[in-house]
Amino acid sequence: MNCNSDNHQHNCKQTLQRVILALDGELTRDDELQFISDLNICSHCLEKYHIEKEFKLFLTNKIEKKCCTSELKASIRTQLSRLQDGI
Ligand SMILES: [Zn+2]
Repeated sequence: MNCNSDNHQHNCKQTLQRVILALDGELTRDDELQFISDLNICSHCLEKYHIEKEFKLFLTNKIEKKCCTSELKASIRTQLSRLQDGI
């Protein structure tokens, strides 16, 4: 793995494993601080973090939209009007 960092403590593999945990908010405070400083010294890890973050946002938006499709709304409206007709 190609890393631009001068810091020999930095471990790309370890940092990348933390990306998902960080995005899920599952890092401890100490881990999070270490993770952020890792991102600051390594552009490769920072780039990967941004890609994962965008992907997660994309998925979140997709799921939210799925809950409120116009088809679903139309279906609910139809069911409601059927219920009203039945009374
Ligand atoms: Zn790195």
